[in-house]
Amino acid sequence: MKDMKKRLNLTCWNCHETFELTLDITNQPLFSRECSHCNAQCIIDLNPYRQPISEVLRGREIDLEKEKLILPEQIPTIKPNEEESS
Ligand SMILES: [Zn+2]
Repeated sequence: MKDMKKRLNLTCWNCHETFELTLDITNQPLFSRECSHCNAQCIIDLNPYRQPISEVLRGREIDLEKEKLILPEQIPTIKPNEEESS
């Protein structure tokens, strides 16, 4: 299985600064990272950018990477949900 390391340009939900991260997005569309400017916890959800590739599968090996990510130049981050305990 090959790595899917991607360099992402993220926009912090808190301070609106942008920061770069290189993430291995092979099996995971959801990340949590700290903003390098204000240290706010940023949720990065790549699910909306996943696009299935419609291709006829050859043989019977199932290729799990028949999917591509179409990422915008700047990816917005989401505020983590911390209000569930109240
Ligand atoms: Zn920030």
